[in-house]
Amino acid sequence: MRARRVVILGATGSIGRSARQVARNLPDHMEIVGMSAHTNVAELTEAGAEFPNARIVQSNGPDGAEKLIELATMPGADLVLVAIVGTAGLAPALAAIEAGKDLAVASKEILVLAGEIVMAAARRKGVRVLPIDSEHNAIFQCLEGRPPEHVRKLILTCSGGPFRTLPADELEHATPEMALKHPTWSMGRKITIDSATLFNKALEMIEARWLFDVGMDRIDVIIHPQSIVHSIVEFMDRSQLAQLSRSDMCFPIQYAVTYPDRVAGALAPLDLAALGRLEFEAPREDVFPALKLARQAGTAGGAMPAVLNAANEVAVEAFLAGGIPFPKIWELVERAMEAHAPDGSTDLAGLLAADRQAREFTLAQLP
Ligand code: NAD
Ligand code: MG
Repeated sequence: MRARRVVILGATGSIGRSARQVARNLPDHMEIVGMSAHTNVAELTEAGAEFPNARIVQSNGPDGAEKLIELATMPGADLVLVAIVGTAGLAPALAAIEAGKDLAVASKEILVLAGEIVMAAARRKGVRVLPIDSEHNAIFQCLEGRPPEHVRKLILTCSGGPFRTLPADELEHATPEMALKHPTWSMGRKITIDSATLFNKALEMIEARWLFDVGMDRIDVIIHPQSIVHSIVEFMDRSQLAQLSRSDMCFPIQYAVTYPDRVAGALAPLDLAALGRLEFEAPREDVFPALKLARQAGTAGGAMPAVLNAANEVAVEAFLAGGIPFPKIWELVERAMEAHAPDGSTDLAGLLAADRQAREFTLAQLP
């Protein structure tokens, strides 16, 4: 098979860096033909020097949105990896699908905002949506194309974040510095805070609902502090399949790039005997209300997941800026969801309007 020609949207982020590492590891399988970055010009220039055949786009100028779409639809690209934090990757992702490109999605926010629309467009165009989020990549590997009728439950594993065992009354004093210390993964700032509130898992529940076409009632979460079992599928016969690897995002990225093949690469082996033990426990749903909010939003459907996501983005930024205490993030999201009056519209314009309103509403709640 010839090398897949890959565009990386968000090439300077944590996922973008791992994707460049995969290209470095597997030059016969992955050729980077395009890269974008928002503000980190120095790193983008450096990446451009390493992959001189790639078209380079800086997306934070006035015509940045158009340039991202041009890059995502460029002739000669097979696969577009969406690794932009937040929802700015939605328009280029939809454009890539229309142009017949396969999609590799790290940006879970775009699937929470508009998963139904993205998946319907991909089905209509006959293109693949390959999940990069480690949990969804694990489920994708366990399913191997099996239909939803074979599945009893999707069980997302969750590290529990830095506050997994912290007494509930101490969360009030959790600082951004404490929340940014993730126990097992090294990631961008936004997703690291999401991992501390468990909104990351909340977003992932809704992401799974659209990627795998199962109802929210069939999506469970289990805490697994070692982040080695990346998720589990329970089938109708009560057999469970899980996928294991070291916690390195190069694994899911390599799988998506070489799919449906599996090739030897440069990734480190997993030594279970050296690890000794893998632990599992139930999440503290009363202490971390994000999971309950996700179930509510996913079950309500319509624009409610968009509201949850938008309010969370605003709240995380406020927390990182030192403007609100940690538990306020949950409260702001809950308030935005309560304030949302569904008008029944589930088209893209309606979802984007709800996203905008939730951002404005949440900004107005800030001290
Ligand atoms: P990051 O903050 O490290 O990088 C974000 C990238 O997006 C950068 O290249 C930046 O230049 C670009 N960017 C930021 N704002 C932009 C905008 N408005 N328009 C265009 N480009 C913009 O983020 P990350 O940790 O790499 O995460 C990226 C996405 O992948 C997120 O949606 C995250 O939830 C998801 N994800 C990340 C990990 C991980 O291990 N980091 C794991 C699973 C899923
Ligand atoms: Mg994940």
